[in-house]
Amino acid sequence: MNFLEERILRDGIVKEGNVLKVDSFLNHQMDVDLLDEMGREFYRRFNDRPITKVLTIEASGIAIACSVARCFHVPVLFAKKSKSVNIDGDMYVAEVESFTHKCKNQVIVSKRFITSEDHILIIDDFLANGCALQGLISIAESAGAVVEGIGITVEKGFQIGGRVIRNLGYRLESLAIVESMDATTGTVNFKSQ
Ligand code: 5GP
Repeated sequence: MNFLEERILRDGIVKEGNVLKVDSFLNHQMDVDLLDEMGREFYRRFNDRPITKVLTIEASGIAIACSVARCFHVPVLFAKKSKSVNIDGDMYVAEVESFTHKCKNQVIVSKRFITSEDHILIIDDFLANGCALQGLISIAESAGAVVEGIGITVEKGFQIGGRVIRNLGYRLESLAIVESMDATTGTVNFKSQ
């Protein structure tokens, strides 16, 4: 069992609706030592790629992305969630359905900060159905950038996102893959990797 799986078993809370709450160390209060350990682990897994930028989505992905980017010595770019339909042409836009909030957001990235010269590592906290990742991939590819890899903190392996993204041919690495979880007993089982 790795450091993150141990922490999830200790402090994660399983909620109804297939939601794993990790707000005591990742999504609200943040354990920065744990974030730095994640950063080093993603660096170990992806440092064979010529990463020029780490791309994530606000808000929870930002802290993890910063720890990763510190190891690569590259900038972090985060897609902003925008309620506005009135977006000017200097933005890449993707529509993302929120798994936790059940609403649709347009996410935007300025064209100034992502180009065809970029080799992107996408980072996010959770992977469920893959909507957030598909939005980030579409933004990176609209800019002509190369998606070198995708790093996820917690993949919920019983939801379709991981399969969809891997079937599209992307290199996807998850620090923990939840195979099953149960809100009544509070148990979480991980896929051995
Ligand atoms: P997807 O787009 O893959 O369906 O969902 C991924 C996004 O939804 C992540 O960016 C994350 O913010 C949120 N999310 C999905 N499942 C969970 C979960 O079980 N717990 C938490 N805390 N966030 C989740």
